[in-house]
Amino acid sequence: MAKLTIKDLILKGRKVLVRVDFNVPLEKGVITNDNRITAALPTIEYILEQGGRAILFSHLGRVKEKADKAGKSLAPVAKVLSEKLGKEVIFIPETRGKKLEAAIDALYDGEILLVENTRFEDINGKKESKNDPELGRYWASLGDDLFINDAFGTAHRAHASNVGISANVKQAAAGFLLENEINYIQEAVDYPTRPFVAILGGSKVSDKIGVIENLLKKADKVIIGGGMTYTFYKAQGVEIGASLVEEDKLDLAKDLMAKAEDKLILPIDSKEANAFAGYTEIKDTKAEAVDPGFLGLDIGPKSIAKFTEEIKGAKTVIWNGPMGVFENPDFQAGTIGVMDAIIAQIGVKSIIGGGDSAAAAINLGRADKFSWISTGGGASMELLEGKVLPGLQALTDK
Ligand code: AMP
Repeated sequence: MAKLTIKDLILKGRKVLVRVDFNVPLEKGVITNDNRITAALPTIEYILEQGGRAILFSHLGRVKEKADKAGKSLAPVAKVLSEKLGKEVIFIPETRGKKLEAAIDALYDGEILLVENTRFEDINGKKESKNDPELGRYWASLGDDLFINDAFGTAHRAHASNVGISANVKQAAAGFLLENEINYIQEAVDYPTRPFVAILGGSKVSDKIGVIENLLKKADKVIIGGGMTYTFYKAQGVEIGASLVEEDKLDLAKDLMAKAEDKLILPIDSKEANAFAGYTEIKDTKAEAVDPGFLGLDIGPKSIAKFTEEIKGAKTVIWNGPMGVFENPDFQAGTIGVMDAIIAQIGVKSIIGGGDSAAAAINLGRADKFSWISTGGGASMELLEGKVLPGLQALTDK
């Protein structure tokens, strides 16, 4: 990586500012999924082991006005983090001021402090989200000229707590999570070991235009599945019954197919049902066409076989988006089939780029079989689109 990373820094005895992603789901003050806290542990533990004094910043949810603050405090996160680390986490329910400054100055080597939700600064003029220069300078002043950004999930945003702090310290470096995300995803896209196969699914073409366009340039094959399929079918004049379609994206689908030539691979059959929910009939189509009144809700068995063949021998695979409505066991076979084809390849670098495919791999029991599962939805999509992430760009060059 061209940027400084945590291992390049001398941390002992220094106040180290760290941006983590603790944007966890909360229900009535209880954290329902603490994966993001777990993902930040290697960086935090390393700082503490090295004798640094860790000062953590994170946002939690969206905060536009005072009323939004309710239920958005990071206090429950401090408690869970403390349990995971097996040591006290000093939580300061402020984002600035004397109390915070005094608590930071009182830290000993190997101690850890968590600052309140950075987005509480958004109440008066979106200071955090608009990267207010004064706020970035102020937060930077709380440390010893060192900043570690480990919040991959917000690296596609230029906020005061990532880009703002980076601009005001001598050394701004990537933490382990951010470094891993970049090493896996960006390197797979830019310097893939070939053959490089991209598999894109999910509901809509419109969400993935940038990703499809970029990966058509970079990958050897781009396999399409999921609800997107039917917009491509309709653009070719194939009957799609009542399947999901984006009428305003038909021309775009045509363009993409023309540009892609034989790189773009579409399903050759579907599993169809006569309703999305409460269906009374469910069957495989004979070929591409979906029967009138039916919806294609998964790729069919012939497509699974075809995709398995196309994936054979791949050395790099990036997968984003399920092949069907995987939340329903009747329409999981396509997603499972493709996952199994990916993980069966010997020596493959297999990457799940965010969101629903990560949920599919976890729920369908295959998460530990992949080389890397991205923790960031928006940020990983932007990397797949070939965009530069401001949170990464702002770090100090090596
Ligand atoms: P995305 O967030 O774009 O990755 O889309 C994921 C969603 O797409 C999941 O909730 C799936 O249920 C849905 N999906 C996948 N295939 C289809 C399909 N053929 N028709 C409708 N929805 C689909």
